[in-house]
Amino acid sequence: MPKLLLFDIDGTLVDTGGEGGLALLDAVEEVLGMPRECVPHLELAGATDGGITRQLFHQLDIAWSEDRVAEYLRCYLKHLERRMKAPKFPGKLLPRVTEVLDRLRGRDDMHLGLLTGNVRAGAEIKLRHFEVWSYFAEGAFADDAEDRNLLGPFALRRMQNFHGVEYSLDEVFVIGDTPKDIACARAMGARCIAVATGSYDRASLEHADAWAVLDSLEPDALVPLLKS
Ligand SMILES: [Mg+2]
Repeated sequence: MPKLLLFDIDGTLVDTGGEGGLALLDAVEEVLGMPRECVPHLELAGATDGGITRQLFHQLDIAWSEDRVAEYLRCYLKHLERRMKAPKFPGKLLPRVTEVLDRLRGRDDMHLGLLTGNVRAGAEIKLRHFEVWSYFAEGAFADDAEDRNLLGPFALRRMQNFHGVEYSLDEVFVIGDTPKDIACARAMGARCIAVATGSYDRASLEHADAWAVLDSLEPDALVPLLKS
């Protein structure tokens, strides 16, 4: 029975150097017509794009409508792409990511997918930029649900359809950097391997009851965990 690994993106695979958050503010100015200074602090870690947008509209007292949200997110994606293509883009792929993905991709008993709060188009922009999009067969995205805890079954179903197998939940691992990834793994009945490469340190991730915590995506630490 193959194992299913579902990766989060921000703080786990990539660090956009804050440019993702700035692109959200660019879209506030362009689509909502409000200066970015009006936006109170946004809690982005582990949140979904849909959840962030709802939080933004609420804080700025803007009536929520599907069309308006879609327009807002389209504008965010345009700015995200522009910022990531800029010569001084400060983002980076996190340490050892390509190495660990190469190591896992070569094995037919490990299937790689995504479980992210990014909308699919945003996930693709971020991962293509760092040339790691093609490692992942399928996934669940913010387009599927605003609540991260509802995303697991979407990822599971798409990965099962893609590979034509049925995974046993005790062979499903969610890999992410926040307590929200841990909660999301629990909600779907999977295990969470938390990595302390985002905004949470090892102690907070242990406190949030991750199944395992790694300081980074170190292949020699990750691969043995998957066999246990
Ligand atoms: Mg994350």
